[in-house]
Amino acid sequence: MNTLLSVQNASVVFHARKGLLASVDVRALDGVSLVLDKGESLSIVGESGSGKTTLARVVLGLQKPTQGQVTFAGEDIGRASQKSLKDFRRRAQGIFQDPFSSLDPYMTVGQIVEEPLVIHRIGTAAERQDRVAKALEEVRLTPTGEIAAKFTHQLSGGQRQRVAIARALVLAPEMIVADEPVSMVDASSRAEILYLMRELQERHGTAFLYITHDIATAYHFSQRVAVMYLGRIVETGPTRWVVANPLHPYTKALLQAVPEPDPQNRFRKRGALSGDPPSPANPPPGCRFHPRCAYAFEGCDREDPRLREVRAGQHVACRLWKGFDEGARLGAPAEGTRTLLE
Ligand code: SF4
Repeated sequence: MNTLLSVQNASVVFHARKGLLASVDVRALDGVSLVLDKGESLSIVGESGSGKTTLARVVLGLQKPTQGQVTFAGEDIGRASQKSLKDFRRRAQGIFQDPFSSLDPYMTVGQIVEEPLVIHRIGTAAERQDRVAKALEEVRLTPTGEIAAKFTHQLSGGQRQRVAIARALVLAPEMIVADEPVSMVDASSRAEILYLMRELQERHGTAFLYITHDIATAYHFSQRVAVMYLGRIVETGPTRWVVANPLHPYTKALLQAVPEPDPQNRFRKRGALSGDPPSPANPPPGCRFHPRCAYAFEGCDREDPRLREVRAGQHVACRLWKGFDEGARLGAPAEGTRTLLE
């Protein structure tokens, strides 16, 4: 079997305080299912508040789902023994948004990268030094001896994120969950880090779950994409298909918000999403996207569309698309509705 990670119908509900006595349920994740194959790259795309970071935490076992199941290499991580959980923590690694806060400022780069090996009692001191040097070399932090002796405040943001990647890599994980790894680094380092992650994925066959608000970077990085809105996946499929032919109005709006070069060689946005996403504590009735949807029609404020396969491999939660047969005819939305295809 090729499946490495499987998330089945996962929901996370937080109880937030409302005033002195009352509390309100916030459904940060709502019935999310996905699979990640060995060596595959999958991007999770959405605005802030879409639930993508909660999903990353659930997948890494840092957040217990209120409902649903996460299995890794066939084992339910919610029911795993301490020993299996330790093994899972070696095989699945996370890289987070802010390298400055995720790396200990009092440790040298060498100690930071070596620490996971010490925790998992891997190798002798000499073997660990060797693995640290190799990991630093892989992320192109050279000369490795000089870099290993530095503290993180002596490095640039891009270099710090590469230290975080080396720290994840040193354990030779089968899966890396990268949560907005380039959102806090400068533009010149961004492409470099994405390129590096793709190279590592190809070279080592590491599966990547890449969490981002930026569908453009998802396009360059991943084989498949899942677009999230208010705690749910609203569209998923091969990245090239989804970007070339988005079937959900939210995906289309995200793509229109990507800046493109204009004739004066500046960047401009082709369109923008109107308004802010509603609060997950009080989602709109019917289709959750309907207050912001340019294609909403009669009944969208009452009927809640579920994710279904519209074309082979491409799933969409939108009433414009009824099912595989309509989608297979390419560009044939339900009668009387507006089409997304221009
Ligand atoms: Fe828009 Fe209606 Fe589709 Fe929701 S179901 S995305 S409101 S067209």
